[in-house]
Amino acid sequence: MARLDLDGGGIEKLTICMIGGGGFIGSHLCETLMYETQHRVLAIDVYSDKIEHLLEQGHPWSDRIEFHRINIKHDPRLEGLIKMADLTINLAAICTPADYNTRPLDTIYSNFIDALPVVKYCSENNKRLIHFSTCEVYGKTIGSFLPKDHPLRQDPDFYLLKEDKSPCIFGPIEKQRWSYACAKQLIERLVYAEGAENGLEFTIVRPFNWIGPRMDFIPGIDGPSEGVPRVLACFSNGLLRGEPLKLVDGGQSQRTFVYIKDAIEAVLRMIENPSRANGHIFNVGNPNNEVTVRQLAELMIEIYSKVSGQPPLEEPTIDISSKEFYGEGYDDSDKRIPDMTIIKEQLEWEPKTSLSDLLEFTLTYQHKTYSHAVKQVLSKSIAS
Ligand code: NAD
Ligand code: UDP
Repeated sequence: MARLDLDGGGIEKLTICMIGGGGFIGSHLCETLMYETQHRVLAIDVYSDKIEHLLEQGHPWSDRIEFHRINIKHDPRLEGLIKMADLTINLAAICTPADYNTRPLDTIYSNFIDALPVVKYCSENNKRLIHFSTCEVYGKTIGSFLPKDHPLRQDPDFYLLKEDKSPCIFGPIEKQRWSYACAKQLIERLVYAEGAENGLEFTIVRPFNWIGPRMDFIPGIDGPSEGVPRVLACFSNGLLRGEPLKLVDGGQSQRTFVYIKDAIEAVLRMIENPSRANGHIFNVGNPNNEVTVRQLAELMIEIYSKVSGQPPLEEPTIDISSKEFYGEGYDDSDKRIPDMTIIKEQLEWEPKTSLSDLLEFTLTYQHKTYSHAVKQVLSKSIAS
């Protein structure tokens, strides 16, 4: 059946240039575009392992997906691919907190400088751009500056993050954690200015902790042994190895987590409803799934025990200081609840999946995908 947009109109088949298409979000977006639509994807990335299953020949969609192994930092083919497409989606970034304070230059280059030509080529060639920013551009909440027991901390005006109203509050320059947020904020401002001055058709996405299968890597299995991925993979790694989960500064920070498949539905609506999405910045998250990092760890421990059939450790978590875990210059966002008014109004989108359901789907995947390999690594290290 032909796909219809939100206003009942037919949807034209698009060619989409997806930069960073081999990453976590890119792999899920490519899957949805292949399984559910007739759009064509020119996927650009330096890695392709997360989309290999889509690139094999003989699928019904095989003539609709191409992979281009390109580093966008220095490759003249980029402009040609953007010109060939109707729409460019830029997902490429360094976006793991362990890098922000330890590789601040790479972080700033990746999130600002390397994105500049993409914006320029889209603007000069009159191509639509969906640019991936981050909820981290909001930084800390206004409420975080009030005393701990102040009643206004409970007032949504002091914590709810609104695209068109909330300020962006970062820590001092020596807290290099904010190198990422600041680079993302400046590229958002540039995209917005290209829209205002040169008519660029753009949409900016601010993801709020999208999680699910294929997120990051398990250290020593499909990523570096010393690597520090985002929290879902850090905690999965601990659970797979039977080690306590490390709670940075006591795990008091709060996050809202959204299931990747819900979030991809929001992106699909942006792709297929340009008149509703152009010129907007969208929070994409699940305000109903708020937990502290400590509560997240407790829930993951409980669900992993059910999924794997292994009882939890007697002491399943340990506290660790942020300096020891991430090094000098780390800082944290205290609380991240997205306001959903704009995305509900424009795209009629709402997240569906509860935190316990999404963790059960994801931990089942992690267990099936990694437990055998982790056991082998552990038994080798005991033997040697
Ligand atoms: P990811 O690291 O899995 O994906 C990014 C992809 O970009 C990787 O495959 C990487 O190889 C590729 N890439 C980076 N630099 C490149 C370059 N120079 N040339 C070619 N490819 C390059 O991350 P993700 O979670 O899929 O995030 C995608 C986007 O969404 C990023 O812009 C990130 O800042 C943003 N974001 C994601 C989340 C989340 O919850 N996952 C939260 C906030 C923001
Ligand atoms: N965190 C933690 N233990 C870990 C990894 C992360 O306590 O092993 C905390 C981290 O300090 C932050 C939260 O989990 O407060 C989320 O971290 P993530 O890396 O997912 O990225 P962020 O949401 O900060 O962008």
